Amino acid sequence: MIKRTINDAAGLSGIDCFLFDMDGTLYLGNDVLPGARELIELLHAQNRKAVYITNNSSRSDADYVRKLNNMGIRSTLDEFFSSADAIAYWLSENHPGARLNVLGTDSFKGFLAERGFRIVDEYTADPAEKPDFAVLGFDTSMTYDKLRIFCDYVTDGVRYIATHPDMVCPAEHHRSIPDAGSFMLLIEGATGRRPELISGKPSPAMINIITKKLGVSKSRTAVVGDRLNTDIMSGINAGTKTVCVLSGETDLALLRSSEVAPDYIFDSVLEIYENLKNSR
Ligand SMILES: [Mg+2]
Repeated sequence: MIKRTINDAAGLSGIDCFLFDMDGTLYLGNDVLPGARELIELLHAQNRKAVYITNNSSRSDADYVRKLNNMGIRSTLDEFFSSADAIAYWLSENHPGARLNVLGTDSFKGFLAERGFRIVDEYTADPAEKPDFAVLGFDTSMTYDKLRIFCDYVTDGVRYIATHPDMVCPAEHHRSIPDAGSFMLLIEGATGRRPELISGKPSPAMINIITKKLGVSKSRTAVVGDRLNTDIMSGINAGTKTVCVLSGETDLALLRSSEVAPDYIFDSVLEIYENLKNSR
């Protein structure tokens, strides 16, 4: 076990707000990881904030509340933040009411429609009806027609943005399924274009919005996650503390070969719990 800081307990005890990745950090697939329930209870008892951040834009925040609560991890809707929330926030701030062609689930499209955006599903060459943005999410209900229309708009020069760059998403039985990043490559192959903005990790957008909303300082905020290139990089890009757990995608060999250096490294959230339990 390597640790890059000498006194982990002292370092983490100064953190008021923990931003948790979920899969590989608090649970694996449908199985809660050891220490996850205990750590979240402890954070509440110690008057620290626990917030859950996910790049997955195929499921709603309410789906995640249900999932965590079913695992015995106490959580409420206002503690969740996804790449979908972040892209909606960016669009609302900069382009309220924009017309959007969306490569995403009905849940994601409904979420955007509720926030005042107009969803354009069909292809139109009429400049007055054309979408302002082509928005790539994690579309688990993709069809060739949807993909073709999306690529047509991107080829036409419609502004192209995306929720997250993950190539695969963990699935049951230790398998993974193609995620938005894989489709980004496909779209680039077909159109020659990459998105101009990606709202999810490793972009700092989600963290910037959350720390502003909650009024917590970044020096007293830590991102906890299992992926170096997304979770840990988002914290580094945002200027928060970073905590890598080895319960998911990253192992010691990967850590040693990577240039991404988290502030703290723990085997799992159980170790964070052990470190924090006598700190307040
Ligand atoms: Mg993860």
